[in-house]
Amino acid sequence: MIFSEFNFVPELQEGLDAMGFEKATPIQEQAIPIILEGKDLIATAQTGTGKTAAFILPVLNEISKGDRKGVKVLIIAPTRELAIQIDQQIQGLAYFLGISSIPIYGGGDGKVWEQQRKALEMGADIVVATPGRLIALLAGGKVNFDSLENLILDEADRMLDMGFSEDILTIVNYLPKSRQTLLFSATMPPKIRKFSQQILQDPEQISI
Ligand code: AMP
Repeated sequence: MIFSEFNFVPELQEGLDAMGFEKATPIQEQAIPIILEGKDLIATAQTGTGKTAAFILPVLNEISKGDRKGVKVLIIAPTRELAIQIDQQIQGLAYFLGISSIPIYGGGDGKVWEQQRKALEMGADIVVATPGRLIALLAGGKVNFDSLENLILDEADRMLDMGFSEDILTIVNYLPKSRQTLLFSATMPPKIRKFSQQILQDPEQISI
């Protein structure tokens, strides 16, 4: 399936063209229609399958049609490296849309912390965060998710293995209850299914 069949807004199609993405990968072909319908989704997909664009594309398309007030999408990822990678892919695909994204992660020196706080104050449409740093910002009242429409958990199995499940549940308490939630994971053991029941509502399930 080629991307033009999804009828994305023209600026998003331009981003795809600029990135050289022409054909959707299997996970993209399955996930994008479900996400565009506004349903919750549990997807089993490994790195390298195009899973990142599978959640970024429909979400960018929907943001571009909305009111653009406040943070609309929160993506939670296990590591700083992954948060940066996701942010970079958003910057590429969103280039012609003028949709902004900021990565929020722990580590680094005081300067990094200060930069992230300043960026949040200026506002962004999308926040890509690691759990620990985000909890610190929420506790300090530095970020507001009242306008949030989408929560995306990437590499959920890794986050649980790293002991982030309580942190994620704490973060979810700060988010609006009426939202779309997407969970991506390389594996789908029973503990992930149990965890997802606490966060997702009546999700569709796909596996590639
Ligand atoms: P991911 O599985 O999200 O880590 O993506 C793996 C790599 O595939 C990334 O470098 C993406 O930029 C690239 N990619 C994702 N979707 C497509 C596509 N439809 N066509 C070509 N490259 C893609």
